Amino acid sequence: MKITIIGTGYVGLVTGACLAELGNDVFCLDVDQKKIDLLNNGGIPIHEPGLEEVVARNRAAGRLQFSTDVAASVAHGTLQFIAVGTPPDEDGSADLQYVLAAARNIGKYMTEFKVIVDKSTVPVGTADRVKAAVQDELTARGAEVKFSVVSNPEFLKEGAAVEDFMRPDRIVIGYDNTPEGEKAHGLMKKLYTPFNRNHERTFWMDVRSAEFTKYAANAMLATRISFMNELANLADQVGADIEAVRHGIGSDPRIGHSFLYAGAGYGGSCFPKDVQALERTARQYDQDLLILRAVEAVNDKQKLVLGQKVVKRFGADLNGKHFAVWGLAFKPNTDDMREAPARVLIRQLIDAGATIAVYDPVAMAEAKRVLALDLSAEELARIRFASSPMDTLTDAEALVIVTEWKAFRSPDFDRIKAALKHSIIFDGRNLFEPEVMAEAGFEYHGIGRSILTRA
Ligand code: NAD
Repeated sequence: MKITIIGTGYVGLVTGACLAELGNDVFCLDVDQKKIDLLNNGGIPIHEPGLEEVVARNRAAGRLQFSTDVAASVAHGTLQFIAVGTPPDEDGSADLQYVLAAARNIGKYMTEFKVIVDKSTVPVGTADRVKAAVQDELTARGAEVKFSVVSNPEFLKEGAAVEDFMRPDRIVIGYDNTPEGEKAHGLMKKLYTPFNRNHERTFWMDVRSAEFTKYAANAMLATRISFMNELANLADQVGADIEAVRHGIGSDPRIGHSFLYAGAGYGGSCFPKDVQALERTARQYDQDLLILRAVEAVNDKQKLVLGQKVVKRFGADLNGKHFAVWGLAFKPNTDDMREAPARVLIRQLIDAGATIAVYDPVAMAEAKRVLALDLSAEELARIRFASSPMDTLTDAEALVIVTEWKAFRSPDFDRIKAALKHSIIFDGRNLFEPEVMAEAGFEYHGIGRSILTRA
């Protein structure tokens, strides 16, 4: 099938590459000329396992092209996927300017039936606004062309995006109960047939329910994280081990083991903004989502916990003190630094006067870029970007772990001990067992695991 993907970011590039992999003829559009030039020169703008190979294979096969040519992009696909960003507006609601700009472009150039697929995460009711934007452009040029807007939210996870897209848990598609909607239903069904071979994974519903489903999913996941973080802080106070508690409750099938990890708070481009946007939607209907307000507040506080543990141990004045930080990306297997807890920790340590050596397996370039925005030149000069995890440790008072990269899970503890000034680890992701750390001679500060902390 001929498909256009508007927006070549995490979601758009993965969607385009994976749909090409299945044999479709895919045209990826972006307004960012630099990104398109990079892709046309064989580069990949993001770190995502397996993506480079899929893109290279399908470009070589002529099934995947990248361009900034809007008219050509509209002409290409019967299916027009909108996968542009929906960042938070000043009041927390989703900023739809990019989605609506993409919709207007389609209306401006379309000459035959199109299915417009909202893949971006958009508030309930956005499909109607997309429809109106397209129709306005058609009316302005006196054109009568049929189209349908469907909602097909994306559930992929950064760091496992290709795998998630190719083997989705579910595909959610909302379509209209109109002749155009039925036609769109048929085309979407055909497109997703290869994903349903093993068993049917598609949930067909009305458009508003599909839009809502995406927010409900992210809100639920964020809620589980904040719930466990809040309990972890209490566990620290009462002398319980949150990891033991996690196993204890996760074994109940009604609760399940997934997504119950206490840590340094959630970040990234999705949970923070989607929780906010859903709260904002509710407020428009005079409803106050009390649980989600608490989820957000707990998360904001949680991002401070690691830094507070450091200050509690070393004092509020960290002048002349140096720390090693492992992990900068908001989670492993990505270079995404949006809303990353590491940015909050670094701000705390710098404000307290410390110097820092940092390392991340893939996010170093992105970290340099965002930390230059977060910090003044003088503050930035107090950060050393190290060449390896071990390279961060020299002269450091302690090691602070913020991202649970696999490469950090089985380090050489003897070398860490030899390099650090004190054998102290602050572990924002509970990578290690407190007993094992104690035996190895470390003072270990996890999240919600203070039962064995030797202060
Ligand atoms: P992104 O910022 O990585 O990419 C968006 C791209 O759209 C950018 O390259 C930008 O230049 C381009 N763009 C903006 N306006 C355009 C226009 N008018 N025409 C063409 N291109 C345009 O964003 P993302 O992380 O891929 O997220 C996209 C959407 O998918 C968001 O709504 C997000 O909430 C949702 N989503 C993201 C993830 C994720 O893990 N990143 C997962 C599921 C859903």
